[in-house]
Amino acid sequence: MCGIIGYIGKKQALPLLMDGLRHESYRGYDSSGVVVFDHDNVTLVKATGKLEKLEEKIQGMDIPGKIGLGHTRWATHGGVTEENAHPHADCKQNIFVIHNGIIENYQQIKDELQAKGHRFISETDTEVLSHLVEHFFTGNLEEAVGKALAQVRGAYGIAVIAKQDPDKIVVARLSAPIVISVNNDGGFIASDPGTILSHSNKMIFLDDGEIAIVTGEGCKITDLKNNAKDKVATEVEWTLQEAEKTGYAHFMLKEIMEHPASLENVLRGRLLMDEGGVKLGGLESIQDKLRDINRIQIIACGGSAYAAQVGEYMLEEYGGIPTEVEIGSEFRYRKPVFDGHTLSIFISQSGETADTLAALKEVKERKGLSLGIVNVVGSTLARQMDAGVYTHSGPEIAVASTKTFTAQVAALALVSLFLGRQRQLSGPAGRDVVGKLSELPAQVREILGRRNSIEEIARRYHQYPNFCVIGRKYNYGIALEGALKLKEVAYVHGEGMRGGELKHGSLALINNEFPTLAIVPTDSVYEKNISTIQQIRARGGKVIAIATEGNREIQKIADDVIYIPENLEMLTPVLATIPLHLFAYYVAVARGCEIDKPRNLAKSVTVE
Ligand code: GLU
Repeated sequence: MCGIIGYIGKKQALPLLMDGLRHESYRGYDSSGVVVFDHDNVTLVKATGKLEKLEEKIQGMDIPGKIGLGHTRWATHGGVTEENAHPHADCKQNIFVIHNGIIENYQQIKDELQAKGHRFISETDTEVLSHLVEHFFTGNLEEAVGKALAQVRGAYGIAVIAKQDPDKIVVARLSAPIVISVNNDGGFIASDPGTILSHSNKMIFLDDGEIAIVTGEGCKITDLKNNAKDKVATEVEWTLQEAEKTGYAHFMLKEIMEHPASLENVLRGRLLMDEGGVKLGGLESIQDKLRDINRIQIIACGGSAYAAQVGEYMLEEYGGIPTEVEIGSEFRYRKPVFDGHTLSIFISQSGETADTLAALKEVKERKGLSLGIVNVVGSTLARQMDAGVYTHSGPEIAVASTKTFTAQVAALALVSLFLGRQRQLSGPAGRDVVGKLSELPAQVREILGRRNSIEEIARRYHQYPNFCVIGRKYNYGIALEGALKLKEVAYVHGEGMRGGELKHGSLALINNEFPTLAIVPTDSVYEKNISTIQQIRARGGKVIAIATEGNREIQKIADDVIYIPENLEMLTPVLATIPLHLFAYYVAVARGCEIDKPRNLAKSVTVE
């Protein structure tokens, strides 16, 4: 969730560490810290709050040294204080640890170490790691780290350095990402590929249970028992420019404006116009097994689960297969009923979402067939799937997902078409979908071109503390997504509802202080939606309608109308998402919110 950066090599470490932290700050954090070694001199600086606080402290300090670690913390155990910020040291100030994740059995280890005389200065779970490594340390850091990690349960991405074994950074992972790259300047380690992309695009992604010893010249990887592992570096395709704001006020707006490019990327090379089908290279290896499935469960969290809600309708109508959506954090705590004929589709932008990974583990233990829809190439989810479809959206920096959401919906449409063509979907019907899919990027551009009018509407409504967002069928997931965005970035309560459900309870909330965003494209449930809008109007509720171009009737019953182009019913969710993302963004701007780094949230949620 938070960020890890480390460097060892020929250059001064501090500027590289601060650069890395600046990059990682998009992920959401509450405090930060760095440690730099210069032979026997150790400089440790920590600060709570924004990274600028750490920068202020460092300014004017002379911090030489060619090895160091930096961390942005997202507190799980212990308040937001300097003592609790990482790096954490052992009693002798020899060993320094930074950690992402949670050590679940930390209290028991802490009690044992305290009984042995170790003095703790923080309330964190992480500090047990530095003392545990100290306990096992006899001169070789990786050996001590290996022994320490054998004692802990939970999740970690860690980086450790020791004054008494100073020519290496030892990193390890269990359920929290660590990437490594080594170039002529030295060795870099990070929790996020984008952090070290400016140094090299060739990266080694550590797997669970692996330890790496990174030096200025190279890196050696072993398992916890010191057996050597052979790994090849992955080439990360992202460009640096993609990870910069390039003139936009916020990453969120920049990424909303990248919806069309993101859609082009997910569709590129995959649409077979003549055959009315799709080419998904990632599914070829399981093509025959896919013919055998008779049920699908889509497992995801947050916005990805709302994309999944759209996918549920697509996979049933076009794929012809009964489909259910399961929430990652619930999945393994119920008794999920599935068999060898069930396909489990996992959706995650980062590919590191702990709840989704936990569900994948359950599916794999039960030998289920898994398919991933993931953005980050080489991420844990991507590597552990039987097969997958990358969304290729490029780096997404704003904590609230936007362009990756529509790419996930488009990827689900591709998978539906793939499965449908294996089953009941005819060539002409497939050609229709392929043609309509290819229209999406231009249609989204058209909506974005009218963003000023959406901004104007958002400004007029920005003071309302509550919104209802309704949609039906394919657009139910989009109503949930629109409400989530209002909560995430504008700190406004959004209630996402199936339009038909409103009268069964929530209608009681509606009055002239509780406006509704209604997604009402001209589709099979249009008339039902209009009845719902009438029920809202009858209670004095204001309505902003998202409707299909050409529909003049809607202007008579809605207070404001945002038009989207016409497309297949199943693809309207992609189009309806754009006004909702823009609306939430502009409401957040008008309310003076932080936007890219909303309070309490982190980009990739790597804790359960
Ligand atoms: N559990 C650790 C803490 O609270 C690490 C949290 C994180 O991932 O930043 O300090």
